[in-house]
Amino acid sequence: MMRSKADWIEMEKQYYMFTVRRQPVVIARGEGTRAWDVDGKEYLDFCAGWAVNNLGHCHPAITQAIVDQAGTLLQTSNQFYTTPQLLLAQLLVENSCLDKVFFSNSGVEAVEGVTKLPRKHGRKNRDGAQEVITAYNSIHGRTMGMIAATGQPHYQEAWQPLAPGFVHVEFDNVEAIMEATTDRTAAVMLEPVQGEGGVNVPSGDYLSRVRKWCDEQGLLLVLDEVQTGIGRLGSLFGYQRFGVEPDAISLGKGLGGGVPVGAFMSKDACMSLEPGDHGSTFGGNPLTTAAAYASTKYIVDHDMSANALAMGERLMAALEGLKSRFDFISEVRGMGLLVALEFDGDIAARVVAQSNEDGLLLNPVRPNAIRFMPPLNVSAGEIDEGVERLATALGKI
Ligand SMILES: *Cc1c(COP(=O)(O)O)cnc(C)c1O
Repeated sequence: MMRSKADWIEMEKQYYMFTVRRQPVVIARGEGTRAWDVDGKEYLDFCAGWAVNNLGHCHPAITQAIVDQAGTLLQTSNQFYTTPQLLLAQLLVENSCLDKVFFSNSGVEAVEGVTKLPRKHGRKNRDGAQEVITAYNSIHGRTMGMIAATGQPHYQEAWQPLAPGFVHVEFDNVEAIMEATTDRTAAVMLEPVQGEGGVNVPSGDYLSRVRKWCDEQGLLLVLDEVQTGIGRLGSLFGYQRFGVEPDAISLGKGLGGGVPVGAFMSKDACMSLEPGDHGSTFGGNPLTTAAAYASTKYIVDHDMSANALAMGERLMAALEGLKSRFDFISEVRGMGLLVALEFDGDIAARVVAQSNEDGLLLNPVRPNAIRFMPPLNVSAGEIDEGVERLATALGKI
């Protein structure tokens, strides 16, 4: 039986937990920056799996690595050494300011892992301090632990009591961090650019001033680079755009180029974990790390970060052009290929629904803003075509 789009949507209603409002698009396959639905309709995919498909859909380098590894070795547990995991570890360490890595299966697990470091740091160096300062409008994931770290009340309200140990301050406000610092504080954890919070780019000197404060106070600076890492901001790691070195970072999303893998990385000076302190059955397994290695190696070797930088500038310039044509656009903001367009009213859902119709997949990141996260290897032609399709959609709003 051939199932129609409506049949699939009906199946979801019947069998799947309704936790996310989906766009009415049933994607069947993808290639590069394009995706096709079950009816064969073609889309430019500027969601890229939520900033995951860094080389687009089904890049041959990643597909080949998965096929080869699937026929070689899938899973062993970390009771044994495996080679793809170690090659990926070496690649990440040699291209960053960090010294050691641990692999997880998702972004939130990476942030869960990295927030164990402040606990140990505080116990050893700050008289038992345990608190981590994070920012309002941050996203650190949806586990019971990380909803406490996340500074968005609507993710927290239903799940009281929250895990203790996190305090929230305004983003892009160094004084707020200074005021919130007490003898209980062990670390500050921030996204270099807030992604899910609406693509909020801080002032150029924010992170360097936070770095200085952390050094003066003996606090760890942890950067949640799940969304900003691996090329997204136009440099391999987001912190490089801000001229700071964090003590530890978390990675996820784009790291695997489409497969579920995350990581946290630390400088040796604060790598306080010991045998037994952390673990994972699947974390760093041969299949996901072989894919992540192929994707990340390609990004490094072909300097896809530079393409992200150039294409991000092209996209933002084109969106500025739309802003002068459509008076309900209030702002264009972003860095690299993490870009948002803000509207005067709460019309993001309508704009996204219309742009779906016109062949462009976008993310309604806030009620009044849409987010663009095309693959890092998107071409100039695809950027222009995407903006054209958006202009068509905006013309009908
Ligand atoms: C998406 C995201 C997470 C959570 O990652 P998952 O893979 O969805 O668990 C954590 N931190 C940031 C900054 C993110 O963007």
